[in-house]
Amino acid sequence: MNDKDISDAVAQVLNGYGSAAANIGAGTPPAQPKSGKPMSDLVAQILAETGSAPAAAEAAQPDHVPGSKRCCWSKAHPSDDPLDDIVNGLVARALGDKQPCTVCPHSAGSEAVAVSDEEATTLGDGVFATMDEAVAAAELAQRQYLFCTMAARKRFTDGIREVILSNGTLERISHMAANDTGMGNAAHKIIKNRLACEKTPGIEDLTTEALSGDEGLTLVEYSPFGVIGAICPTTNPTETIICNAIGMLAAGNAAVFSPHPRAKKVSLLVVKLINRKLATLGAPANLVVTVQDPSIDNTNAMMAHPKVRMLVATGGPGIVKTVMSTGKKAIGAGAGNPPVVVDETADIEKAARDIVNGCSFDNNLPCIAEKEVIAVNQIADYLISEMQKCGAYLIKDPAVIKQLEGVVINQKGGPQTSCVGKSAAHLLGLIGITVGEDVKVILTEADKDHVFVQEELMMPILPVVRAPSVDDAIDLAVELEHGNRHTAMMHSNNVRKLTKMAKLIQTTIFVKNGPSYAGLGVGGEGYATFTIAGPTGEGLTSPKSFARKRKCVMVEALNVR
Ligand code: NAD
Repeated sequence: MNDKDISDAVAQVLNGYGSAAANIGAGTPPAQPKSGKPMSDLVAQILAETGSAPAAAEAAQPDHVPGSKRCCWSKAHPSDDPLDDIVNGLVARALGDKQPCTVCPHSAGSEAVAVSDEEATTLGDGVFATMDEAVAAAELAQRQYLFCTMAARKRFTDGIREVILSNGTLERISHMAANDTGMGNAAHKIIKNRLACEKTPGIEDLTTEALSGDEGLTLVEYSPFGVIGAICPTTNPTETIICNAIGMLAAGNAAVFSPHPRAKKVSLLVVKLINRKLATLGAPANLVVTVQDPSIDNTNAMMAHPKVRMLVATGGPGIVKTVMSTGKKAIGAGAGNPPVVVDETADIEKAARDIVNGCSFDNNLPCIAEKEVIAVNQIADYLISEMQKCGAYLIKDPAVIKQLEGVVINQKGGPQTSCVGKSAAHLLGLIGITVGEDVKVILTEADKDHVFVQEELMMPILPVVRAPSVDDAIDLAVELEHGNRHTAMMHSNNVRKLTKMAKLIQTTIFVKNGPSYAGLGVGGEGYATFTIAGPTGEGLTSPKSFARKRKCVMVEALNVR
């Protein structure tokens, strides 16, 4: 089929579509295609050649079809003639989305959306009974999404930001996450959720590269993967859904979320709120989906599903290793054990304050939070005394340290789940020490092999290890980071030593003279991500991490130099 046949067929179809089609069809007589094939065959052939075979569309039973502009979608009407569906698709393609949609009732987007606590875990609005159903719905949504404009993508991702930031939702989901998981600090989760809404990049991240020369013009563009399976941690359950949903949809994908079972209710609530908001904006239904009962079996089903083209795991080493061994394109955002080095040139009072604040943020749940301090001997005592002034509770007695170890470390030598994300006051209470909530961090001195130093505890327990010199401190920090390439901090006014540590430690995030959360974007410049991919090398993820680079080559034309 040649171009003339296609335009003839389109013109003829448009002729039957009244004024909406008049602009494109104007002046074009309803020509009979040269091939002389019946129109139904011709249309089916066009769609098959452009990847929209009618058989697939019928099998998928879309509940929404393209409207007269590609940005909006209306409820499918059962039609007597299956050709109508095909024609709908063709017309949507032909018309494009050159003007903002003024006719679609879904596109206003100003209605407030709400989901009650009771509704949160029921089926519908992106929540499915089985992983198969969830993936099938996401696949259909993504096929429809392919024909939405970039302006529509921006509207949808802005809608996600807006629905979380409005009507007290930020506070609601932050409290619910802390209560459901039994981890973290709701006030700090509000900051993290706001950060995910406000600082996750959108479509502006997808820059196009144009290469022009005597042989024509080549475009290199970021194109969606399709359906992405995203596994979320308990530690940042809602932040990860918000951040990944914005990034994945900005890049043109649909997202299937696999939340941690402990964060089920709040995760389903966020998915539903996003779906209801997107529906008011005229987005294809089910761009963001999940299952009613998140479980390891469901996560495994998602990972194995042939329609899931990419996997993104934000979690511990086990799940990162699993996604990397699936044979699919995978992003693994794994564990960290961020060290903080303080040398003799640092502003010690500020360093003490920053370290206590960073370590206690959300009760040390963030994977970027300070997990151990390496202090140059010369300033170690002073640093410890300054940290005590900022809310650190120092335990010196080896017997008490042992007692704490017995409570917070499990039999396998890792963190006791029931203690992860608990406050310093709570943890001290477990060993019979009563303190006020002004105590933010538990401080101990330790040697480098101590379990508190070696393990990622995700509790506000901060061991301090002494080093004879800044060079020794840097070497030890590299060793204790365990090659995660995740996050590290340094407090120093010696730019050469700051540079040396940055080069040697190779972490995705390196914060100089500030608390760890500055690296996320709280009090530090730059965009935010809650999926920091050390193991697979993307580092900071953003929409372009969820896209493929594709090349479109025009030979011997369109170059204007
Ligand atoms: P986790 O590894 O226990 O769980 C993460 C997710 O994977 C959950 O949804 C869980 O249900 C699923 N999962 C775990 N094991 C599975 C298996 N065998 N099969 C199928 N699904 C499985 O981690 P967590 O406790 O929820 O989160 C804390 C960990 O995540 C920490 O190690 C932290 O450093 C890391 N983390 C990393 C980042 C990052 O950006 N690099 C961000 C947040 C958390």
